[in-house]
Amino acid sequence: MLDYHVHARYCRHAKGEIEDYVKDALQKGLKEIGFSDHYPMFYLPKLGYDNYSMKLEEFPSYRKDLEKTRKRFASKIKVKIGLEVDYYRKKEVLLSVLSKSFTSQGFDFIIGVVHVLDDWVIDDPRLLDKYSELNLDEFYSRYFKEVEALIKSGLFDIVGHIDVIKRFNILPKGGFEKYLEPCLDLIAKKDLCLEINTSGLARPIKDTYPGLNLLKSLNEKGIQVTVGSDAHDPKEVGRYFKKVLKALKKAGYSKVVSFKKREKVMRKI
Ligand code: ZN
Ligand code: FE
Ligand code: FE
Ligand code: ZN
Repeated sequence: MLDYHVHARYCRHAKGEIEDYVKDALQKGLKEIGFSDHYPMFYLPKLGYDNYSMKLEEFPSYRKDLEKTRKRFASKIKVKIGLEVDYYRKKEVLLSVLSKSFTSQGFDFIIGVVHVLDDWVIDDPRLLDKYSELNLDEFYSRYFKEVEALIKSGLFDIVGHIDVIKRFNILPKGGFEKYLEPCLDLIAKKDLCLEINTSGLARPIKDTYPGLNLLKSLNEKGIQVTVGSDAHDPKEVGRYFKKVLKALKKAGYSKVVSFKKREKVMRKI
């Protein structure tokens, strides 16, 4: 098995060094670990806190550290070098320049995510108050429009925690499937990889992003998936993977996606 969404201390809100995560992955018998720490958010509006991502000046050493780690553990586990990058529609030109540079720098995979609408980081528990005055339908519809634009941009390899907006279990009355569904169809059409992110199982919503009950329909749509724990602590590597593996197999999946230099490589599960 592999874990394709792992952070480390570079982003300022995760515990431990890169190698601590690799050691944990080894202990848990993973064959592959993909690091995806948060790319600097300098192109976003000014946010209320400054511990969301690595600093731009740290970016080169993030990559070098991972290359060293990859070599050091080469005989034991595949270490893949990736990033979690915030999509922001108004900055698509800049993001396309960045995306090309990630390819030429040899990154293995780029996860595209939406955390920020205007200047609000929607999955930050410190900003939970903001939810009290919302029209939830408008809010969800707006979020998924941004995700749709992310998918259409073609700048990312993996769509990360696609419905992270449900994290706090504050949902519109009629559900949000009608907003999510067009995104899934677009992912299928674009042949993108969708992440099954297990961190939501530890949040108030208590489900993966996207939900486990959707796996069968994802498979029917022909969507290829990968699995990520979104670990921010070494002990969270591979969290809930047994449960998800079982669900994937039940939904008819026999393979998940891994990446090498931004090209898909299928792995049996
Ligand atoms: Zn994070
Ligand atoms: Fe995220
Ligand atoms: Fe993450
Ligand atoms: Zn994340």
